[in-house]
Amino acid sequence: MDGAIEPAALERAAALLADSTHTVVLAGAGMSKESGIPTFRGEGGLWTTHGEPPMNQYDGFRTDPKRWWQRRLEAAAGGDQFGAAVGAAEPNAGHYALVELERLGAVRHVITQNVDDLHRRAGQQSLTEIHGNRLWLRCVVCQARWAADAFTVDPDRLPPRCARVGCDGAVKGDTVMFGEPIPPDALESCHREAQQADAVLLVGTSAVVYPAAEFPLIAHRRGAQLIEVNPQATPLSDACVAVLRAPSGHALPKLLERVQALTPGAAPSEGRA
Ligand SMILES: [Zn+2]
Repeated sequence: MDGAIEPAALERAAALLADSTHTVVLAGAGMSKESGIPTFRGEGGLWTTHGEPPMNQYDGFRTDPKRWWQRRLEAAAGGDQFGAAVGAAEPNAGHYALVELERLGAVRHVITQNVDDLHRRAGQQSLTEIHGNRLWLRCVVCQARWAADAFTVDPDRLPPRCARVGCDGAVKGDTVMFGEPIPPDALESCHREAQQADAVLLVGTSAVVYPAAEFPLIAHRRGAQLIEVNPQATPLSDACVAVLRAPSGHALPKLLERVQALTPGAAPSEGRA
């Protein structure tokens, strides 16, 4: 699909971003896939190949957190496919373009469904990881988070307990499990952004997984314009004022270039990729 971007759609999208005062990005698995990270759903996805995790995964953790931690430590010792792929992955040109758009003020916030840390590593400042971050741990009671590599886990005392005084909640991986509520702080942030957005840029997401999928709709009902960057059509395509049918690593740098041309005083991109 490279090079298949319709020039008029690119101009419409760039003009909208340059004029918007509060553009929110909803990013999905398509961005990670372009960095070589296997997807979960769809053709060749980990869940499609190996089966989906149980829908009551979070109940399983609540019932027997020790067992969950034993499996996690075993998987870390044995080397899991997803972990290895994420460890080797680098942010791509699409991630860096979003960072530059933020620097220009053409993007105000990124809501990502990806847990791979690539937006953060690229340098995105205003970011909500709605499904968590696989490199972090989180207390299920007070929602405090720690970088996993800075948190000492004693294999003889599982699950590890929250380090905050007076909490003592069980600590789990920050990645949101099936059946687990989205952490309240992430949910609040998404609602706040949806209420402020005057434009929503949908990138590499089929926008069908709830609750992430509802934020563009909330914003759209309030009058926000939608732009889509995706090689495939999605249920939201018809509602978009501009659709760029290309991978994000191709489309977003082109979009950035056009926004820079429309933004007075914008420094040219350093061309990072
Ligand atoms: Zn806690």
